[in-house]
Amino acid sequence: MKKPGESITELFGSNVFNDIVMRSRLPKDVYKSLKKTIEGNEPLDSASANVIANAMKDWAVEKGAAHFCHWFQPMTGSTAEKHDSFISPTPQGNTIMEFSGKELSQGEPDASSFPSGGLRATFEARGYTAWDCTSPVFIKEDGNNTTLYIPSAFCSYIGHALDKKTPLLRSMDALNKQATRVLKALGNTTSKRVTATLGPEQEYFLIERSFYKNRLDLVLTGRTLFGAPSPRGQEMDDHYFGPLHERVASFMHELNLELWKLGVSAKTQHNEVSPSQYELAPVFATVNVATDHNQLVMETLKKVALRHDFVCLLHEKPFVGVNGSGKHTNWSMVTDDGINLLEPGQTPHEDMVFLVMLCAVIKAVDKYSKLLRASVANSGNEHRLGANEAPPAIVSVFLGDQLSDIFDQLAVGGAKSSKQGGELKLGVSTLPPLPKDCTDRNRTSPFAFTGNRFEFRMVGSTQSTSGPMFVLNTIVAEVLCKIADELEKARNVKAAAQKILQDIATKHRKIIFNGDNYTDEWVEDAERRGLPNIRSTVTSLETIMDKDNVAIFKKHGVLTEAELHARTEILLEAYSMSINIEAMTMLNISKRQILPACIEYSSSLGDAVCSVSNAGVDAGTQKDMLKDVCNLITTMKKNISQLEKAATKAGKIADAIKQARLYRDQIIPAMEVLREVADKLETVVDAELWPIPTYAEMLFLK
Ligand code: ADP
Ligand code: MG
Repeated sequence: MKKPGESITELFGSNVFNDIVMRSRLPKDVYKSLKKTIEGNEPLDSASANVIANAMKDWAVEKGAAHFCHWFQPMTGSTAEKHDSFISPTPQGNTIMEFSGKELSQGEPDASSFPSGGLRATFEARGYTAWDCTSPVFIKEDGNNTTLYIPSAFCSYIGHALDKKTPLLRSMDALNKQATRVLKALGNTTSKRVTATLGPEQEYFLIERSFYKNRLDLVLTGRTLFGAPSPRGQEMDDHYFGPLHERVASFMHELNLELWKLGVSAKTQHNEVSPSQYELAPVFATVNVATDHNQLVMETLKKVALRHDFVCLLHEKPFVGVNGSGKHTNWSMVTDDGINLLEPGQTPHEDMVFLVMLCAVIKAVDKYSKLLRASVANSGNEHRLGANEAPPAIVSVFLGDQLSDIFDQLAVGGAKSSKQGGELKLGVSTLPPLPKDCTDRNRTSPFAFTGNRFEFRMVGSTQSTSGPMFVLNTIVAEVLCKIADELEKARNVKAAAQKILQDIATKHRKIIFNGDNYTDEWVEDAERRGLPNIRSTVTSLETIMDKDNVAIFKKHGVLTEAELHARTEILLEAYSMSINIEAMTMLNISKRQILPACIEYSSSLGDAVCSVSNAGVDAGTQKDMLKDVCNLITTMKKNISQLEKAATKAGKIADAIKQARLYRDQIIPAMEVLREVADKLETVVDAELWPIPTYAEMLFLK
């Protein structure tokens, strides 16, 4: 009999063509050359590619697959796939299963219907996908269909990146190059590669499927566009880390099994702050693999939820009045010989490599804070950032006591000591003393040092982690590049490094903030420090094309100016389009569901007025109620017309920036006033007549 847990170790990665499978199924020399390619040392020759493709096909077919697909991440933010079968008809009229190295390495999907931001006219249709051998090939089972998935990059006919993966891989190369230069200059002779690592914590909501079906706003936009607050929200703080509901626990169990099969190391799960909100965190991996895995996590969450009669909402702000969802991205850099470059150790003040890496990140975040802010700008996140539940739109760095103290020491010439954590005694003889961390946590900080990594907390829950991660990799690569330039030409490296650290600690002190980021005082303080506070998505996106940004993306080979421009256009268009969809959905629900219900209610009040006064009783109260409802209906009708007018106007604007500004300045306010009156009506209209599920039902019933 199997011991509990044993089947999980067997299940884990069972659908992944991972290193163990490669070792057992590939000839030794082919395995070696593939490893070399994965480590970035040389391209794969076509003979090896053929052998690998054949081994993959055999493995996939044994598992029941008849198809393969290049799986890529266009600029829509989700994934795309086009399936081809392995069958290859023979002249004899039967078929064999075939898969060539060329089919593995390259695909040619029609690219014309993916967003390109003007990089390519619609008639220039050809696009290419290219196998990314650094992210393992896997098998996905959807219903009865089993398919081999090949993680791929996606570019246009002339080689422009049209996806999220390409710039991420390029940024990893850039970071590797600059970080190894710095390590070498500081005397490290053993490390050959530096890889950025990522552990993304995914927040999400689960709501009853039957409610979802009756909410066109959730179906079409992922968030509620109407809904009066529930009498009970999150004020009792009883959901956070609370016991799991049995149905949710069963859901999580099945979710984990599905993810483990795919080699996604789902590790932590718990109830989040808002009712019906949850979190899943995997064990960290390279930013590339972790980004691919996060896409699988989001997809699997949705898929498994349906099996349990739930719907998973990934939107940044599905419900007003309770917390929205984010995706905390834990990031660090690790060498091929296992050194975490952001590990402070016992005496960080003595560790020059750690100090240089730490200060490089601080400088990068300060210098490129607007770019980092823009990397998380979308219409959903706009509801969240700065709303006392998520970091503000002001970027700052939390270092904590120990490192802030060292940072201050660096500013005055050199660090001589590291504060220690000590022990925590709980005053109970049966409880052991706890070793205390050197630093407390700060949940309000947008960019917090959390022990041996930074946690970037502004990322939205729907977002691909690629954007924020390639920005972070690139800005850190740029600062490390400047540092390497200095160190490589220095006669006395130690003195040069000290000077660099002192310089950073002096010039970039302003980005360090260890206090409460949710307060008004911080907003004022940040302004005095000269830190940008960009609340608006559009304003933030408008900063992307600043010349410094264009220059570093170009210098490090991450994005050309044309590619960056295209991305900005796509983001602006996505902003306008999503708000337009929200506005149209609001109009639809208002006119076809809410108004008719309110009118029915007003006529029943009218009937009551007549019948009560006919009976010879004073119907004053009924009349007052009727008047109130009729006034609200009139206002609602007026607000509908206003929104319709504004939306028609916005739809006619061709320029992406001008259009996005109009959506921000006219459509969103018109949506807000329409919602306000509808939500008021919800609080007075007969519950039996109200046409859509309420907040209380959706957030609390299971
Ligand atoms: P929290 O207490 O902040 O909610 P979680 O345990 O939910 O923490 O998530 C922390 C995440 O940080 C996990 O995904 C974990 O694997 C990741 N992590 C840990 N070390 C590193 C590292 N060196 N680089 C990147 N991510 C890391
Ligand atoms: Mg967590």
